[in-house]
Amino acid sequence: MGYIRRPDYYRNFKCISSECTDSCCQEWEIDIDDETLEYYMQVEGEFGDRLRKHIKIEEMEEAHFIQTKEERCPFLNECGLCDIFIHLGEEHLSQICTHHPRYYDWFLEGEEAGLGLCCEEAARLILQKSGYPVFEVMMDEENDRERDAQADDEDVIFQRKIEQMLFDMREKLFKIIKPDVNGKEDNPDEKMKELYKAAGRFQCEYEDVMFPMCQEDLEDDETDFVGGGKEENEFRNQASYHNWNEQFWQKEFLEKLITFYLELEINDENWWKLLGEIRRNLSEILNKRGEFLKYYQENLYEYEQLMIYFIFRHFMKARNDDAVFEKIVFALISTDFIQMLDIYEWMMSGEITLKSQVNICKLYSKEIEYDEENMEQVSRFLS
Ligand code: SF4
Repeated sequence: MGYIRRPDYYRNFKCISSECTDSCCQEWEIDIDDETLEYYMQVEGEFGDRLRKHIKIEEMEEAHFIQTKEERCPFLNECGLCDIFIHLGEEHLSQICTHHPRYYDWFLEGEEAGLGLCCEEAARLILQKSGYPVFEVMMDEENDRERDAQADDEDVIFQRKIEQMLFDMREKLFKIIKPDVNGKEDNPDEKMKELYKAAGRFQCEYEDVMFPMCQEDLEDDETDFVGGGKEENEFRNQASYHNWNEQFWQKEFLEKLITFYLELEINDENWWKLLGEIRRNLSEILNKRGEFLKYYQENLYEYEQLMIYFIFRHFMKARNDDAVFEKIVFALISTDFIQMLDIYEWMMSGEITLKSQVNICKLYSKEIEYDEENMEQVSRFLS
Protein backbone atom coordinates (compact mmCIF):
# COMPACT_ATOMS: atom_id res chain seq x y z
CA MET A 1 0.00 0.00 0.00
CA GLY A 2 1.43 3.40 -0.92
CA TYR A 3 1.12 6.69 0.93
CA ILE A 4 -0.19 10.10 -0.08
CA ARG A 5 1.27 13.04 1.82
CA ARG A 6 -0.19 16.50 1.53
CA PRO A 7 -0.61 19.68 3.57
CA ASP A 8 -3.78 19.71 5.64
CA TYR A 9 -5.15 22.82 3.90
CA TYR A 10 -5.26 20.82 0.66
CA ARG A 11 -8.62 19.31 1.50
CA ASN A 12 -10.13 22.79 2.05
CA PHE A 13 -9.50 23.86 -1.51
CA LYS A 14 -12.49 24.61 -3.64
CA CYS A 15 -12.25 26.55 -6.87
CA ILE A 16 -14.11 29.86 -6.48
CA SER A 17 -14.84 29.81 -10.27
CA SER A 18 -16.90 32.89 -11.21
CA GLU A 19 -15.64 34.72 -8.08
CA CYS A 20 -12.05 34.35 -9.20
CA THR A 21 -10.50 37.63 -10.35
CA ASP A 22 -7.77 35.91 -12.33
CA SER A 23 -9.19 32.69 -13.67
CA CYS A 24 -6.75 30.03 -14.80
CA CYS A 25 -8.98 29.67 -17.89
CA GLN A 26 -7.41 32.79 -19.33
CA GLU A 27 -3.88 33.66 -20.46
CA TRP A 28 -2.74 30.04 -20.31
CA GLU A 29 -2.97 27.57 -23.13
CA ILE A 30 -5.08 24.65 -21.90
CA ASP A 31 -3.89 21.21 -22.98
CA ILE A 32 -6.20 18.28 -23.57
CA ASP A 33 -4.98 14.82 -22.57
CA ASP A 34 -5.39 11.94 -25.04
CA GLU A 35 -8.25 10.19 -23.25
CA THR A 36 -10.31 13.38 -22.98
CA LEU A 37 -9.52 14.27 -26.58
CA GLU A 38 -10.79 10.90 -27.71
CA TYR A 39 -14.03 11.52 -25.84
CA TYR A 40 -14.40 15.07 -27.23
CA MET A 41 -14.00 13.70 -30.75
CA GLN A 42 -17.09 11.57 -30.22
CA VAL A 43 -19.43 14.04 -28.55
CA GLU A 44 -22.50 14.41 -30.72
CA GLY A 45 -24.73 17.34 -31.57
CA GLU A 46 -24.16 21.07 -31.60
CA PHE A 47 -21.97 21.08 -28.54
CA GLY A 48 -19.75 18.37 -30.02
CA ASP A 49 -19.27 20.50 -33.15
CA ARG A 50 -18.47 23.54 -31.04
CA LEU A 51 -15.93 21.53 -29.05
CA ARG A 52 -14.04 20.29 -32.08
CA LYS A 53 -14.04 23.72 -33.72
CA HIS A 54 -12.05 25.09 -30.81
CA ILE A 55 -9.46 22.35 -30.50
CA LYS A 56 -6.07 22.50 -32.15
CA ILE A 57 -4.27 19.23 -32.85
CA GLU A 58 -0.68 19.45 -33.98
CA GLU A 59 1.83 16.74 -34.61
CA MET A 60 4.27 16.13 -31.75
CA GLU A 61 2.31 18.45 -29.47
CA GLU A 62 -0.47 17.97 -26.99
CA ALA A 63 -3.87 19.05 -28.32
CA HIS A 64 -5.15 22.28 -26.79
CA PHE A 65 -8.06 24.70 -26.89
CA ILE A 66 -7.71 27.64 -29.25
CA GLN A 67 -7.84 30.76 -27.11
CA THR A 68 -10.11 33.68 -28.00
CA LYS A 69 -8.44 36.92 -29.01
CA GLU A 70 -8.79 38.05 -25.39
CA GLU A 71 -6.67 34.99 -24.50
CA ARG A 72 -9.53 33.22 -22.72
CA CYS A 73 -10.49 29.58 -22.94
CA PRO A 74 -13.30 29.49 -25.56
CA PHE A 75 -15.46 27.57 -23.07
CA LEU A 76 -15.21 30.11 -20.25
CA ASN A 77 -18.60 31.77 -20.49
CA GLU A 78 -19.60 35.33 -19.63
CA CYS A 79 -20.60 34.35 -16.10
CA GLY A 80 -17.10 32.98 -15.52
CA LEU A 81 -18.33 29.37 -15.63
CA CYS A 82 -17.12 26.48 -17.75
CA ASP A 83 -19.43 25.39 -20.58
CA ILE A 84 -17.81 21.94 -20.79
CA PHE A 85 -18.56 21.41 -17.10
CA ILE A 86 -22.15 22.55 -17.68
CA HIS A 87 -22.77 20.44 -20.80
CA LEU A 88 -20.72 17.31 -20.20
CA GLY A 89 -20.09 17.24 -16.45
CA GLU A 90 -16.94 17.51 -14.31
CA GLU A 91 -15.81 13.99 -15.25
CA HIS A 92 -15.23 15.11 -18.82
CA LEU A 93 -12.94 18.02 -18.10
CA SER A 94 -9.40 17.70 -19.37
CA GLN A 95 -6.97 16.43 -16.73
CA ILE A 96 -5.31 19.81 -16.33
CA CYS A 97 -8.70 21.47 -15.66
CA THR A 98 -9.63 18.85 -13.07
CA HIS A 99 -6.31 18.96 -11.24
CA HIS A 100 -5.22 22.58 -11.38
CA PRO A 101 -3.93 24.07 -9.06
CA ARG A 102 -3.07 20.74 -7.47
CA TYR A 103 0.36 19.36 -8.20
CA TYR A 104 1.83 15.89 -7.59
CA ASP A 105 5.20 14.30 -7.11
CA TRP A 106 5.82 10.55 -7.15
CA PHE A 107 8.25 8.66 -4.95
CA LEU A 108 9.28 5.05 -4.66
CA GLU A 109 6.58 4.18 -2.18
CA GLY A 110 4.01 6.87 -2.53
CA GLU A 111 3.05 10.29 -3.67
CA GLU A 112 2.92 13.87 -2.46
CA ALA A 113 0.38 16.48 -3.48
CA GLY A 114 -0.04 20.17 -2.86
CA LEU A 115 -1.69 23.34 -4.08
CA GLY A 116 0.16 25.78 -6.35
CA LEU A 117 0.67 29.40 -5.34
CA CYS A 118 -0.39 30.66 -8.78
CA CYS A 119 -4.09 30.24 -7.95
CA GLU A 120 -5.61 32.96 -5.77
CA GLU A 121 -7.71 30.62 -3.66
CA ALA A 122 -4.74 28.31 -3.10
CA ALA A 123 -2.53 31.29 -2.23
CA ARG A 124 -5.09 32.39 0.37
CA LEU A 125 -4.95 28.94 1.99
CA ILE A 126 -1.15 28.78 1.87
CA LEU A 127 -0.80 32.19 3.55
CA GLN A 128 -3.38 31.69 6.27
CA LYS A 129 -2.31 31.92 9.89
CA SER A 130 -4.33 29.03 11.25
CA GLY A 131 -1.45 26.86 12.25
CA TYR A 132 1.56 25.81 10.24
CA PRO A 133 0.61 23.10 7.79
CA VAL A 134 0.53 19.64 9.16
CA PHE A 135 1.40 17.17 6.44
CA GLU A 136 -1.17 14.44 6.63
CA VAL A 137 -0.23 11.01 5.40
CA MET A 138 -2.87 8.62 4.12
CA MET A 139 -2.42 5.07 2.93
CA ASP A 140 -3.82 4.26 -0.46
CA GLU A 141 -4.07 0.83 -2.04
CA GLU A 142 -4.25 2.21 -5.55
CA ASN A 143 -1.07 4.09 -4.96
CA ASP A 144 1.05 0.99 -4.43
CA ARG A 145 3.85 1.52 -6.88
CA GLU A 146 4.84 -2.13 -7.25
CA ARG A 147 7.50 -1.64 -4.65
CA ASP A 148 7.35 -5.22 -3.41
CA ALA A 149 8.44 -6.57 -6.78
CA GLN A 150 11.49 -4.33 -6.72
CA ALA A 151 12.25 -4.41 -3.03
CA ASP A 152 15.54 -6.31 -3.36
CA ASP A 153 16.90 -4.50 -6.36
CA GLU A 154 20.15 -2.79 -5.34
CA ASP A 155 19.36 0.37 -7.25
CA VAL A 156 15.99 0.62 -5.59
CA ILE A 157 17.55 0.12 -2.17
CA PHE A 158 20.00 2.93 -2.88
CA GLN A 159 17.28 5.21 -4.27
CA ARG A 160 15.23 4.58 -1.18
CA LYS A 161 18.18 5.54 1.00
CA ILE A 162 18.63 8.81 -0.93
CA GLU A 163 14.91 9.60 -0.76
CA GLN A 164 14.86 8.97 2.96
CA MET A 165 17.93 11.13 3.51
CA LEU A 166 16.26 14.00 1.64
CA PHE A 167 12.99 13.53 3.52
CA ASP A 168 14.95 13.71 6.79
CA MET A 169 16.74 16.87 5.65
CA ARG A 170 13.44 18.45 4.65
CA GLU A 171 12.03 17.66 8.07
CA LYS A 172 14.98 19.47 9.64
CA LEU A 173 14.33 22.47 7.40
CA PHE A 174 10.67 22.55 8.50
CA LYS A 175 11.81 22.46 12.12
CA ILE A 176 13.95 25.54 11.53
CA ILE A 177 10.98 27.38 10.00
CA LYS A 178 8.17 26.43 12.37
CA PRO A 179 7.62 28.67 15.40
CA ASP A 180 9.70 28.03 18.46
CA VAL A 181 7.60 25.83 20.75
CA ASN A 182 9.33 27.32 23.79
CA GLY A 183 8.09 30.75 22.83
CA LYS A 184 11.62 31.99 22.21
CA GLU A 185 11.71 35.15 20.11
CA ASP A 186 12.36 34.25 16.51
CA ASN A 187 11.80 35.95 13.20
CA PRO A 188 11.91 34.93 9.53
CA ASP A 189 15.30 36.63 8.97
CA GLU A 190 16.92 34.48 11.65
CA LYS A 191 15.32 31.38 10.20
CA MET A 192 16.55 32.23 6.72
CA LYS A 193 20.07 32.57 8.09
CA GLU A 194 19.78 29.08 9.57
CA LEU A 195 18.31 27.65 6.38
CA TYR A 196 21.16 29.06 4.34
CA LYS A 197 23.70 27.49 6.66
CA ALA A 198 21.87 24.19 6.36
CA ALA A 199 21.90 24.47 2.55
CA GLY A 200 25.69 24.24 2.28
CA ARG A 201 25.92 21.55 4.95
CA PHE A 202 23.18 19.38 3.41
CA GLN A 203 24.72 19.59 -0.06
CA CYS A 204 27.99 18.21 1.32
CA GLU A 205 26.21 15.51 3.35
CA TYR A 206 24.21 14.50 0.29
CA GLU A 207 27.27 14.23 -1.88
CA ASP A 208 29.12 12.17 0.71
CA VAL A 209 26.43 9.53 0.39
CA MET A 210 25.64 9.92 -3.28
CA PHE A 211 29.19 10.10 -4.60
CA PRO A 212 31.48 8.53 -2.01
CA MET A 213 35.10 8.80 -3.05
CA CYS A 214 38.23 7.34 -1.56
CA GLN A 215 41.02 9.68 -0.53
CA GLU A 216 42.95 8.99 -3.74
CA ASP A 217 39.95 10.03 -5.87
CA LEU A 218 39.59 13.16 -3.83
CA GLU A 219 43.19 14.14 -4.45
CA ASP A 220 42.84 13.57 -8.20
CA ASP A 221 39.45 15.19 -8.47
CA GLU A 222 39.38 18.46 -10.31
CA THR A 223 35.94 18.46 -11.81
CA ASP A 224 33.12 16.27 -10.70
CA PHE A 225 29.38 15.79 -10.39
CA VAL A 226 26.49 18.25 -10.08
CA GLY A 227 28.13 20.82 -12.27
CA GLY A 228 30.81 21.56 -9.73
CA GLY A 229 34.05 20.27 -8.40
CA LYS A 230 35.66 20.21 -5.00
CA GLU A 231 36.24 23.93 -5.15
CA GLU A 232 32.64 24.69 -6.00
CA ASN A 233 31.36 22.58 -3.14
CA GLU A 234 33.82 24.24 -0.81
CA PHE A 235 32.56 27.59 -2.09
CA ARG A 236 28.91 26.64 -1.42
CA ASN A 237 29.80 25.48 2.03
CA GLN A 238 31.77 28.63 2.82
CA ALA A 239 29.15 30.88 1.22
CA SER A 240 26.41 29.50 3.38
CA TYR A 241 28.32 30.61 6.48
CA HIS A 242 27.79 34.19 5.43
CA ASN A 243 24.64 35.86 6.64
CA TRP A 244 21.88 35.24 4.08
CA ASN A 245 20.11 38.51 4.83
CA GLU A 246 23.24 40.58 4.43
CA GLN A 247 23.80 38.98 1.06
CA PHE A 248 20.26 39.28 -0.24
CA TRP A 249 19.35 42.78 0.98
CA GLN A 250 22.23 44.37 -0.83
CA LYS A 251 21.75 46.75 -3.74
CA GLU A 252 24.32 45.15 -5.99
CA PHE A 253 22.92 41.65 -5.56
CA LEU A 254 19.32 42.75 -6.03
CA GLU A 255 20.14 44.70 -9.16
CA LYS A 256 21.70 41.57 -10.58
CA LEU A 257 18.72 39.43 -9.58
CA ILE A 258 16.10 41.83 -10.99
CA THR A 259 18.06 42.17 -14.24
CA PHE A 260 18.17 38.40 -14.45
CA TYR A 261 14.39 38.12 -13.89
CA LEU A 262 13.84 40.79 -16.56
CA GLU A 263 15.76 38.67 -19.05
CA LEU A 264 13.48 35.66 -18.52
CA GLU A 265 10.38 34.99 -20.54
CA ILE A 266 7.71 37.42 -19.32
CA ASN A 267 4.10 36.28 -19.53
CA ASP A 268 2.29 39.22 -17.99
CA GLU A 269 3.21 42.77 -18.86
CA ASN A 270 2.40 43.86 -15.31
CA TRP A 271 5.28 41.71 -14.09
CA TRP A 272 7.68 43.40 -16.48
CA LYS A 273 6.48 46.87 -15.37
CA LEU A 274 6.72 45.94 -11.71
CA LEU A 275 10.29 44.68 -12.07
CA GLY A 276 11.28 47.92 -13.78
CA GLU A 277 9.73 50.01 -11.00
CA ILE A 278 11.41 47.92 -8.33
CA ARG A 279 14.78 48.37 -9.99
CA ARG A 280 14.33 52.14 -10.17
CA ASN A 281 13.27 52.37 -6.53
CA LEU A 282 15.71 49.89 -5.08
CA SER A 283 17.57 52.31 -2.77
CA GLU A 284 14.33 53.51 -1.22
CA ILE A 285 13.02 49.96 -0.85
CA LEU A 286 16.19 48.98 1.00
CA ASN A 287 16.01 52.06 3.24
CA LYS A 288 12.38 51.42 4.12
CA ARG A 289 12.69 47.71 4.89
CA GLY A 290 13.14 48.19 8.66
CA GLU A 291 10.04 50.36 8.82
CA PHE A 292 8.08 47.88 6.72
CA LEU A 293 9.01 44.96 8.98
CA LYS A 294 7.58 46.87 11.95
CA TYR A 295 4.42 47.71 10.03
CA TYR A 296 3.98 44.09 8.92
CA GLN A 297 5.05 42.50 12.22
CA GLU A 298 1.75 40.71 12.81
CA ASN A 299 1.90 39.09 9.37
CA LEU A 300 5.53 38.04 9.18
CA TYR A 301 4.38 34.44 9.60
CA GLU A 302 3.32 34.65 5.93
CA TYR A 303 6.99 34.52 4.94
CA GLU A 304 7.40 31.37 6.98
CA GLN A 305 4.39 29.84 5.26
CA LEU A 306 5.94 30.72 1.91
CA MET A 307 9.27 29.13 2.86
CA ILE A 308 7.44 25.96 3.85
CA TYR A 309 5.50 26.01 0.59
CA PHE A 310 8.61 26.40 -1.60
CA ILE A 311 10.56 23.77 0.34
CA PHE A 312 7.72 21.25 0.39
CA ARG A 313 7.16 21.69 -3.32
CA HIS A 314 10.72 21.86 -4.64
CA PHE A 315 13.23 20.40 -2.18
CA MET A 316 12.65 16.73 -2.98
CA LYS A 317 13.38 17.39 -6.67
CA ALA A 318 17.03 17.33 -5.63
CA ARG A 319 16.82 13.55 -5.96
CA ASN A 320 16.69 14.12 -9.74
CA ASP A 321 19.47 16.67 -10.14
CA ASP A 322 21.49 16.46 -6.89
CA ALA A 323 21.11 20.22 -6.39
CA VAL A 324 20.19 20.32 -2.70
CA PHE A 325 21.78 23.71 -2.04
CA GLU A 326 19.98 25.27 -4.96
CA LYS A 327 16.53 24.06 -3.88
CA ILE A 328 16.90 25.72 -0.49
CA VAL A 329 18.30 28.92 -1.98
CA PHE A 330 15.37 29.04 -4.41
CA ALA A 331 12.98 29.02 -1.44
CA LEU A 332 14.95 31.82 0.23
CA ILE A 333 15.21 33.96 -2.88
CA SER A 334 11.54 33.51 -3.75
CA THR A 335 10.35 34.38 -0.25
CA ASP A 336 12.55 37.46 0.03
CA PHE A 337 11.71 38.57 -3.50
CA ILE A 338 8.02 38.48 -2.58
CA GLN A 339 8.86 40.51 0.51
CA MET A 340 10.64 43.07 -1.65
CA LEU A 341 7.51 43.38 -3.82
CA ASP A 342 5.46 43.77 -0.64
CA ILE A 343 7.66 46.64 0.53
CA TYR A 344 7.15 48.41 -2.77
CA GLU A 345 3.38 47.84 -2.66
CA TRP A 346 3.30 49.24 0.89
CA MET A 347 5.37 52.28 -0.16
CA MET A 348 2.95 52.97 -3.00
CA SER A 349 -0.41 52.31 -1.38
CA GLY A 350 0.36 52.66 2.33
CA GLU A 351 -0.85 49.16 3.19
CA ILE A 352 -0.70 45.47 2.35
CA THR A 353 -4.03 43.73 2.30
CA LEU A 354 -4.54 39.99 2.00
CA LYS A 355 -5.77 40.64 -1.52
CA SER A 356 -2.63 42.51 -2.55
CA GLN A 357 -0.42 39.89 -0.91
CA VAL A 358 -2.25 37.10 -2.76
CA ASN A 359 -1.85 39.01 -6.03
CA ILE A 360 1.88 39.48 -5.52
CA CYS A 361 2.41 35.80 -4.63
CA LYS A 362 0.46 34.49 -7.57
CA LEU A 363 2.18 36.87 -9.99
CA TYR A 364 5.60 35.65 -8.82
CA SER A 365 4.50 32.04 -8.95
CA LYS A 366 3.01 32.34 -12.44
CA GLU A 367 6.03 34.09 -13.89
CA ILE A 368 8.75 32.01 -12.27
CA GLU A 369 7.47 28.77 -10.76
CA TYR A 370 4.93 27.91 -13.43
CA ASP A 371 7.15 28.59 -16.39
CA GLU A 372 9.32 25.55 -16.99
CA GLU A 373 11.88 27.37 -19.07
CA ASN A 374 12.21 30.13 -16.49
CA MET A 375 12.67 27.55 -13.74
CA GLU A 376 15.49 25.95 -15.72
CA GLN A 377 17.19 29.31 -16.11
CA VAL A 378 16.73 30.13 -12.43
CA SER A 379 18.31 26.81 -11.66
CA ARG A 380 21.35 27.69 -13.79
CA PHE A 381 21.54 31.14 -12.19
CA LEU A 382 21.53 29.66 -8.70
CA SER A 383 24.08 27.01 -9.41
S1 SF4 B 1 -7.20 30.26 -10.50
FE1 SF4 B 1 -7.90 28.86 -8.86
S2 SF4 B 1 -9.77 29.80 -8.02
FE2 SF4 B 1 -9.33 30.78 -10.01
S3 SF4 B 1 -10.55 29.63 -11.52
FE3 SF4 B 1 -8.50 28.69 -11.47
S4 SF4 B 1 -8.60 27.03 -9.93
FE4 SF4 B 1 -10.41 28.37 -9.63
